[in-house]
Amino acid sequence: MDTFSPPGDCPVCGEFVPAGDTSCKSCGSCPETGWNEETAYDGLDLPDSGDSAEAPAKKERPLWVRLTMAAALLLLAIVLFVLTNP
Ligand SMILES: [Zn+2]
Repeated sequence: MDTFSPPGDCPVCGEFVPAGDTSCKSCGSCPETGWNEETAYDGLDLPDSGDSAEAPAKKERPLWVRLTMAAALLLLAIVLFVLTNP
C-alpha cells in the first residue's frame, strides 16, 4: 500500500517523483503521509460531500408531530365516514 519510494509515479496524483525526492512536488505526498490521498488534501477545507450544500435541508418534523397528524387525519376520516354514512 504505502511502499512507494521514488523514483516512480506518485501513487496519489500520478506525477513522476524523481529519485532523491522525499515528497511529490505536485501534490505534496511523502512517506510521512503514507502517500495517502486523504492527507494530500488536508487543509484545502473541502466539504465532506456536496449533499448538505446542494439540497436545501428540508426540515423534518419530529416523530410525535407526524404521529399526531396521522392520528388527526385518521380521526377526521372516521368522522367523515360516520357523517356520510348514517
Ligand atoms: Zn503526487
